[in-house]
Amino acid sequence: MGAMVPKGKIFSGMRPTGRLHIGHLSVLQNWIRLQQDYDCVFSIVDWHALTTSFEDVQAMQTNIREIALDWLSAGLDPEISPISVQSQVKEHAELHLLFSMMTPVSWLERCPTYKDQLQQFGLKGKEINMYGFLGYPMLMTADILLYLADHVPVGQDQLPHIEISREVARRFNFLYQVELFPEPQAILSEVPLLPGIDGLKMSKSYGNDIALSASAAELKEKVRLMVTDPARVRKTDPGNPEVCIVHTYHKIYSTAEEVAEIEEGCRNATIGCVACKQALAAKLENMLGPIRERREALLAHPGRIDEILAEGSRQARQKAAVTMNLTREAMGVRG
Ligand code: SF4
Repeated sequence: MGAMVPKGKIFSGMRPTGRLHIGHLSVLQNWIRLQQDYDCVFSIVDWHALTTSFEDVQAMQTNIREIALDWLSAGLDPEISPISVQSQVKEHAELHLLFSMMTPVSWLERCPTYKDQLQQFGLKGKEINMYGFLGYPMLMTADILLYLADHVPVGQDQLPHIEISREVARRFNFLYQVELFPEPQAILSEVPLLPGIDGLKMSKSYGNDIALSASAAELKEKVRLMVTDPARVRKTDPGNPEVCIVHTYHKIYSTAEEVAEIEEGCRNATIGCVACKQALAAKLENMLGPIRERREALLAHPGRIDEILAEGSRQARQKAAVTMNLTREAMGVRG
């Protein structure tokens, strides 16, 4: 019998900023696949939410439960990998502190997302030029390296943060002459960019999202409100699918043959927008129906979400304790 090859390790997290929408589903489906092949830790990163929303914390605990419910309803399995809450694993903070002693400020200041976000939030009149905000990629580095994760599923925009975590790992290992931290690799996931029902960026705050938890009636209504080709007033007018949001969704959720049929029917005015939307609503219902059922089953057991998060955080602390002992030892401090 050949020797067992140890599994790779993955860390990934999301901020608890409100209910998830169908645009997040492909990220979750990717996590569910990765659960089978890697040792994963998933974390609801509430401290990260504070970096930009430190003044607005009333909904934090509700949002943590909501996002956990969304993850579990989508099919993430807490029996396979721990689902934890960042603030329930204090080692994230300790590792962040220790790393911050040896990380040049310039590494954080040159991070492209830092300047971009400062500017974006500044335009909205929101002041986020805080110490914690500058250190956000450092906290993310601590999140990843705490579990010695060698892979991190991310979108393109997160690549500079992964680069910082690689540099920190390298610098730590060099400074203290250890081989403790791996240099994590990004797993770039193919996440289709789903617009909101009005064609703008999908966001709960714009009201143009389709929530993962949408009821069958809400889902139908959202699809009914989707923006179509504005030049197609009557069913007999030929339409242009390229400017239609319903078509954008069909391209993601329908088969190539179905899309070709819709495109032709739209251009020849043989298919009406009502039928086209009904076909899309049926596709989305097929996808969200089972998620809704799992959600209802979980909600039938009050306290279940808290139990899962407590157990996931306990398991995460166990893993983190091993890394922290080695890190403290390397840096000459005691736990
Ligand atoms: Fe859009 Fe379909 Fe109407 Fe064409 S038929 S404009 S693709 S909703």
